[in-house]
Amino acid sequence: MTATTNDECVLKWCNEAGEHRTHRQYVMSSVCWHRTWLVGVNVAQPEGEPRRVEFTAASRWAAPVAVTLQPDEAEAVGQALIEAAARATR
Ligand SMILES: [Zn+2]
Repeated sequence: MTATTNDECVLKWCNEAGEHRTHRQYVMSSVCWHRTWLVGVNVAQPEGEPRRVEFTAASRWAAPVAVTLQPDEAEAVGQALIEAAARATR
């Protein structure tokens, strides 16, 4: 565990404060679909493990979900989102 007594993590890229076992950088969060969903994208690195991408979704009506993705999987999902958005606006 990265025990920190001050507010900042020793890793400069990490946005977490205080004690934490997973380093995390919050890349984006957005309120979506008629303000009913909060969607987030993070870089996460549990202690001793490689970095990965987290895709999170939360709403008032469902339990929050966090999907963990390998970087190449996140790129594939990102490309699919762009393609789907383009098709949805045609
Ligand atoms: Zn950290």
